[in-house]
Amino acid sequence: MESNRNNNSNPNKKPEGGDRPKSSIGTALLITLVIVLLFSWVLNAMEKSQYTQTTYSDFLAAMDANQLAEVELRTDRILYMTKEEAAKDPSQQKACYTGLPSGGDTMALAEELVAMGVKVNKQIVEDNSMIMMILSYVVMIGGLFLVMNMLTKRMGGEGMMGGFGKSKAKVYMEKQTGVTFKDVAGQDEAKESLQEIIDFLHNPQKYTAIGAKLPKGALLVGSPGTGKTLLAKAVAGEANVPFFSISGSDFVEMFVGMGASRVRDLFQQAAKVAPCIIFIDEIDAVGRSRDNRFGSNSEQEQTLNQLLSEIDGFEPSKGIVCLAATNRPEILDKALLRPGRFDRRIIVDRPNLQGRLDTLKVHTRKIKLSEDVDLRKIAQATAGAVGADLANLVNEAALRAVRQGRKAVNQEDLLVSFETVIAGTEKKNTVLTDMEKRLVAYHEVGHALVAALEKHSQPVSKITIVPHTSGALGYTMQMPEEEKFLNTAEELRTELRTLVGGRAAEQVVFGVQTTGAANDIQRATALARNMVSQYGMSEKFGLMTTASVQNQYLDGQAYMDCSQETAAGVDQEVMRILDQAYADAKRILTENRALLDEISEFLLVKETITGDELMAYVNADKYQLPAPEEAPEE
Ligand code: ADP
Ligand code: ZN
Repeated sequence: MESNRNNNSNPNKKPEGGDRPKSSIGTALLITLVIVLLFSWVLNAMEKSQYTQTTYSDFLAAMDANQLAEVELRTDRILYMTKEEAAKDPSQQKACYTGLPSGGDTMALAEELVAMGVKVNKQIVEDNSMIMMILSYVVMIGGLFLVMNMLTKRMGGEGMMGGFGKSKAKVYMEKQTGVTFKDVAGQDEAKESLQEIIDFLHNPQKYTAIGAKLPKGALLVGSPGTGKTLLAKAVAGEANVPFFSISGSDFVEMFVGMGASRVRDLFQQAAKVAPCIIFIDEIDAVGRSRDNRFGSNSEQEQTLNQLLSEIDGFEPSKGIVCLAATNRPEILDKALLRPGRFDRRIIVDRPNLQGRLDTLKVHTRKIKLSEDVDLRKIAQATAGAVGADLANLVNEAALRAVRQGRKAVNQEDLLVSFETVIAGTEKKNTVLTDMEKRLVAYHEVGHALVAALEKHSQPVSKITIVPHTSGALGYTMQMPEEEKFLNTAEELRTELRTLVGGRAAEQVVFGVQTTGAANDIQRATALARNMVSQYGMSEKFGLMTTASVQNQYLDGQAYMDCSQETAAGVDQEVMRILDQAYADAKRILTENRALLDEISEFLLVKETITGDELMAYVNADKYQLPAPEEAPEE
């Protein structure tokens, strides 16, 4: 399956690579020594426990009394067994040991003992024992060192088996990525910008003949999962050149100097096989600004400096093109973005409706689809999803089809897996009390009804009170009829009323407030705050902006950018807008209380109802449709 194949071959997860700095050899040596010392200490201790310690005079006394059965002369001690012990059962025998007096002549002692008929252990007596011991230690240390060296090499350095493609080298190289632009759906502008690079890799002479310099690098900027890695691979695939990839976070290591040497190594390897593409994922991990505002460290700085000098160093005519990906371009060091480095910025956007449809088509190419599948509907429902989400969705649908023993994926599989991706899998065993269930039902119908009764709202497609693993006890799904890029102030106010509609229903019907509305309230507050501080939609501040967006490609969070008093004023205004929305929602629900009750009871029985079923209730003309502007305030 497409999505699987791509995920598995994601190069960034493959570790390894680089010149090994001295420090790791030192580590291997140290570890070896420690192991050897420990080992000999343990051996010593084990041996000692088998013998009883005696004095040298005890030994001489036993010798004089002709009590000795067996003696072993070592360089540092004498081991011996008395005849009494030797007569015992072997498992009961206990030998003795005693120190050897310094300057004692072991040879003479041995001869004397042999003459007495005592069994003397000869191999030790031959006085090369010292040499043997040293030799064996040397061999052991050498062997261990080799093993340790290999281990640390595996962990931190280039593998020993040659090609870095096969070994676990940190730098991951693919001779051919096998990915082309056909595998990347949408992203036409990005592809167009990259086309030039492909052309350059095909035919560098064409450019150098005129004296044109091509950019050495391009920065792919976009949210996670939008296909930046995929695009970079496709460039390599289209140009038919090798693809090196490494993640920025791989550079940043525990040991200072490691990152810099990895960078050097990466460019050396690349130079050997140029033309080629070097892809650095998450470049913000190394490339973050050195001004310390976001906290940097010397290792990262050193790595960044090395990267800059490597980029400056290579000849553009060689045909190395450096692509990097990030979702936080604003924290990158300015030096990286200078002309001649990553001066091209290619935006990889979240896909629009057509882009999502194309992505779904790409990922369903190798999947058997049954006739009822309507990918356009799925694309419509997935506004805001990125390529990776869609790939995941298709795969989930296929898995579901297999689980249910079908031969092809149908529309229901896709819809269900869409919900799985969005709301977690359905969890039927969360036990709610009857009262809780009623509350959840009214809460959800509150959202849905406010939305359904307004003219600027997105149509409701589904309401459910089946709990999901994500923790939601129920949810109301709204599906836009068409893709929208702009929202009017009125639409946003409608959305606010819809968001607080759940809490309003709890209040109107039961007179209680539950924790279930927490997420709604959070979202409503965030929206209201944006209306005031960024969209210029409040009466109080008019067109003045009081916050600015910092990292637009991640969470898009905005930071207050105004005086303390103004910030307090913003809070007041946000509160006023929310209060207004809440009052409106309560009014709408109170005016349509009968409808609210009826739909909620229906939902309690059916647990899941569709948008059409909801609208059938709403459109039965016995209910009054709201005219919010003229309606009297409560
Ligand atoms: P990023 O590097 O931007 O985080 P990836 O390139 O790793 O995202 O994308 C992850 C996966 O999502 C890809 O392997 C691919 O299966 C899917 N994907 C993302 N964008 C697209 C796209 N435009 N067309 C097809 N598949 C896509
Ligand atoms: Zn809610």
